[in-house]
Amino acid sequence: MAKERVLIGSPVRERACVLRAFLISLKSVEHEGFDIDYIFIDDNDSEVSGKLLADFKRDGSSVTVLPSVKGIAAEDSALRKETQLVRVAGYRNRIIRYAMQNDYDAVFLVDSDLIVHPELVEYLRAAKKGVISELFWAKSNAGHSSGPNAWLMEERAPNSDKRNAALYKKEADRRKRQFADRLKVSGVYEAGGLGSCTYIDRASMEGGIRFVPDREKEEKEEAPAPKETSLGRFTITGYCGCEQCSGGHNLNFSGTVPTPNHTISADLDYFPLGTRLKVDGTVYTVEDKGSSVNGNILDIFYGSHEEALAKGTYTAEVFLVQD
Ligand SMILES: [Zn+2]
Repeated sequence: MAKERVLIGSPVRERACVLRAFLISLKSVEHEGFDIDYIFIDDNDSEVSGKLLADFKRDGSSVTVLPSVKGIAAEDSALRKETQLVRVAGYRNRIIRYAMQNDYDAVFLVDSDLIVHPELVEYLRAAKKGVISELFWAKSNAGHSSGPNAWLMEERAPNSDKRNAALYKKEADRRKRQFADRLKVSGVYEAGGLGSCTYIDRASMEGGIRFVPDREKEEKEEAPAPKETSLGRFTITGYCGCEQCSGGHNLNFSGTVPTPNHTISADLDYFPLGTRLKVDGTVYTVEDKGSSVNGNILDIFYGSHEEALAKGTYTAEVFLVQD
């Protein structure tokens, strides 16, 4: 009987330093009693990362690198983000199709920001499950607590029923916590959803298993807090309502009364009146403009000339705040 063949696959859009560590770990994947090959989808912007993939070799294994499908407007970050999720799911499915077309007995799909333990593929294979993921905990966001890369089906249930939503959320949170606690003990558990580090056998591939974009989850996590997008570093200056700073104008350009910790003056070509910008933890509203406030300069309104002078001119990372 011919040796079984497992395809290790990964859509890759990764910084070179992280990718290097990932590829080193893939090279030491052990495969006692079966062969392994590799497939990558090169979705990198970084040339260095693309070259790392192109140079990846391992004796006894074939390595395939497929190009990505680009073409999403870079300036539309919301669309790009959503499309990235759709894209990654599509890439994983493309790898599954490739595995079926090329008669692999199983596929191991892994994200390129992980370091794979040498025995992991053997270990997952030995579990003899149709679909099995190695579990890890990760923070989706700096402020969040870490969660497992597996979830209960309940988390995906529609929560559009407003009457039951509060009760539902409490119960869902309880089950989610209970599930996460259970996962802290080593073992094999049933889950409603898996991601990032998944072994799928031939029968499951033929049974039609496919990845779907994790959009619901993503929206749920982001919904409660306003969305903040880094705009990069700006020059921050200060002004007040005095003659010297404001030339006798008592009101903002927008007609409102300037207020400390609230009013900011910006280049209205970039930030229309009403735009909310976060600087050093305070969310300001663009209500004013100034002859020297152009491009990446922002002018913060202070209650006194002394304070405006004391804060001086500095640079800070600025975030666009959107609901
Ligand atoms: Zn002043």
